[in-house]
Amino acid sequence: MDSAYRKLLEKQGYKFIGEHSACKTCHYTASSIAGKGTCYKHKFYGIESHRCVQMTVAANFCNMDCVFCWRKRNNSPFGKIDDPVALVDNALRAQMKALSGFGGNPAADRQKFIESKQPLHFAISLNGENTAYPRLGEFISELNRRGYTSFLVTNGQLPEVLAKIPPPTQLYISVSAPNEELFSSVDKPMYKDGWQRLMKSLDLLNRFREEGKTRTVMRLTLIKGLTMLPQYAEQFAAMIKRANPMFLECKSYMWVGTSREKLEKDNMASHGEIREFSAALGMKCSYKVVDEQEESRVVLMMQEDSPDRFLKIGEINPIRPGHLDAFSIAAAADTVIQPLPAVASTVAATAEGQKELEQPLFQLKFPKIPVGAKHL
Ligand code: SF4
Repeated sequence: MDSAYRKLLEKQGYKFIGEHSACKTCHYTASSIAGKGTCYKHKFYGIESHRCVQMTVAANFCNMDCVFCWRKRNNSPFGKIDDPVALVDNALRAQMKALSGFGGNPAADRQKFIESKQPLHFAISLNGENTAYPRLGEFISELNRRGYTSFLVTNGQLPEVLAKIPPPTQLYISVSAPNEELFSSVDKPMYKDGWQRLMKSLDLLNRFREEGKTRTVMRLTLIKGLTMLPQYAEQFAAMIKRANPMFLECKSYMWVGTSREKLEKDNMASHGEIREFSAALGMKCSYKVVDEQEESRVVLMMQEDSPDRFLKIGEINPIRPGHLDAFSIAAAADTVIQPLPAVASTVAATAEGQKELEQPLFQLKFPKIPVGAKHL
């Protein structure tokens, strides 16, 4: 990837764990250990923020150029393609190093600090379009095999990839425009058929839910005065019906980073405005607000609330020492966990690995959910 861009990201706190892959400690991971609050995904789905690895496998590339994006964009070749298995180990190592400072911090929650040495969850988002990483399927397969939960966030521009990869725990498709015209001006896709690609991805979201393949989320990023207008509610509702997601997150655009050069502060909706717009939108597609987090200006909507929205972390992700390889066991010497034999680390490069891609050893089980069903 472009070396100047890499340096810029490093200055912003990114820790590179490969040629084009990087981790950055999430603000909420740190604040959770410091006892200062968790992220909205903790509130909505039971994610343990202090045990979450925030990372990207495509820091170098995005196939859209959204006006609301707060990051400086870059499009450079991947270069040497990162090994997906090594990435998991490198991410764990980077996370442990990044959080080590909390060990001597008297204000840190000691229990959480100890637990943070055993991450449970990978948030594959951060920067760039992660579905562009050519070995994403193998990477998810490796996470599944080791028992980590994962949230994959995509702009839906590569439906052909979504159709093939093993299921992450939760698949997000980010949507920010209600029609093709606004999509072209707000999201500026690289492809002429960008809108049609997004529609294909929404159809896949619907299919994955129907098949019980993964937990599906549609996230609306709403820009006040531009896309968050009453006249677009009907079109947004049609997209929601098309994707029929288990979860619908309606979130305000935030006036931060480079987006401040393209949008105004007034484009950021208050939490109350998000709530009001979402409730009206929900009336048109049979979703209702089931949770919210004011600080992040986000509401969670579902057709019907269900306790199943909370991940059963202990059950699906047993805290087993095999999560950690030798280096991290040594670094976590003050935990009471005993190491199991190290996991094999060549899954994807072999014919066996290819088989595993199609049939991950670890797969979340979800009940079959008919289209339009009111329960998870
Ligand atoms: S789920 Fe997202 S916001 Fe929450 S701790 Fe992980 S990276 Fe941060």
